Amino acid sequence: MQRTLLIIKPDAVKKKVIGKIISMVEKEFAIRGICMKTLTPEEAKKFYKVHEGKDFYEGLVEFMSSSPSVGVLLEGENAIYRLREIVGATDPKKAKPGTIRSLFGTNIRFNAVHASDSPEAAKYEIPFYFPNWDA
Ligand code: ATP
Ligand code: MG
Repeated sequence: MQRTLLIIKPDAVKKKVIGKIISMVEKEFAIRGICMKTLTPEEAKKFYKVHEGKDFYEGLVEFMSSSPSVGVLLEGENAIYRLREIVGATDPKKAKPGTIRSLFGTNIRFNAVHASDSPEAAKYEIPFYFPNWDA
């Protein structure tokens, strides 16, 4: 059994598709937690530390700390890989039809959701929304 973190990003919260996205992942995984919060700029910087220095980093931090997002803690067999499949490619235009990003993303920055991409990433990311859990 594996845990992973889905974040419903501020753009998707504003579009009022929290329920639709949760309903898609609820069919596939056990939901262990849901937490709405606005990341501070410091938290967003830390969360996306791997992208520090890239041209989109500052804009990404500003976006992710601009308004509330929803962390969803999911559990299941091979959950990290399977969630990435359901989420789709980073650029919604390139995401397969039926994936969360193809349905709800706007562009490569405002792409509706985040999903952990490795067990190490899940372990690092889960406590930003669920301080009492680990991966
Ligand atoms: P995430 O980590 O959010 O699940 P990802 O793993 O598919 O997405 P990353 O390469 O890790 O993609 O990029 C992190 C986030 O940074 C993207 O989800 C997107 O919001 C933003 N981003 C990535 N590339 C660009 C870009 N070229 N221009 C603007 N924003 C970008
Ligand atoms: Mg990533």
